[in-house]
Amino acid sequence: MKLIVATERDRDAFNKYVLQKLDALRVGTEKILEGVTVYVGLNPHAELAQFNPNNRRPHYAPDEKCIVIPSLFWELGQGDVPAQAELATFFHELGHHLHFSYMGEDGGPKWRDWSVLTGQTLDFTKRDDLNYPRTPAYESFANDFQLAITGAFPVPDTLRRLRWYARLWGQDWRPRIELYIGKQEALVCGRKVDLDVAPLIIKGRTLVPVRFISECLGFDVDWEPKWGYPEKVIIT
Ligand SMILES: [Zn+2]
Repeated sequence: MKLIVATERDRDAFNKYVLQKLDALRVGTEKILEGVTVYVGLNPHAELAQFNPNNRRPHYAPDEKCIVIPSLFWELGQGDVPAQAELATFFHELGHHLHFSYMGEDGGPKWRDWSVLTGQTLDFTKRDDLNYPRTPAYESFANDFQLAITGAFPVPDTLRRLRWYARLWGQDWRPRIELYIGKQEALVCGRKVDLDVAPLIIKGRTLVPVRFISECLGFDVDWEPKWGYPEKVIIT
């Protein structure tokens, strides 16, 4: 990846908030940013805006593999914390890069899988114009990737998405799960998740919530009741 920034403050913020976020989610930072040029606070296509206003906005240029976003410290930013909106914009544009790189033909098998995963309908009918060939399906994909990276972190929905996306570019995705004895809170890929029940140690044995851990690892969990009480747990 080549990073071109307007200010050193943007470089620091990019490393700290963007790269570290991707690293924590274990989706394969190097792989997804391979060969990409990122401009932060600078726009190499500004002069083209007279022909197409999209060149003035944050954008991804597929032929150049180039992501252009405004400064991470746009007016919404507070002190040394970058504006969340600008971080989200980066991940949206990165989503465009990933679909151009890995999703294949419009409506192909990967698109159909993704549509099942997310419940989104595929619409390839409209395009803004020839210079900026985005369709509703492409925008939905970029928005969904952005949400998977920046959004709330419910288990197992977000984890299912992260696993699916990572596999798209050949990453063997395994979450990092941190549990604390006696604490009703866990960290999954560095993000805090509430638990129904805390892990416990009883007579030298550690008891952990089986549904939570199984779902984090991508398994489905069912309880089979007998006489109204759960008798069997089935993990598939
Ligand atoms: Zn877009």
